[in-house]
Amino acid sequence: MKPPRTSIDSGNPTGYISKKCPECMEYMSLNAGVCPSCKTPVGKINKNGMASRKTDWKAYATAIAAWIVFIVYIWWAFIREP
Ligand SMILES: [Zn+2]
Repeated sequence: MKPPRTSIDSGNPTGYISKKCPECMEYMSLNAGVCPSCKTPVGKINKNGMASRKTDWKAYATAIAAWIVFIVYIWWAFIREP
């Protein structure tokens, strides 16, 4: 049985006391910035009680840089004219 929702905690219009990780579905505290279970960066809670995904631009940049290095290496190793 769930306790009735109260409006005691202001600044929390959803009424949730914890948010759910979008990656591993683990619950964490509302002000958590990173999932304690899978280390995914998460944002504020949405209306479904899920933590919103945070776009990790640093991770994107790292991934893109890694791809560029990989492609250049492939080109250098196999395609380059001798
Ligand atoms: Zn998680």
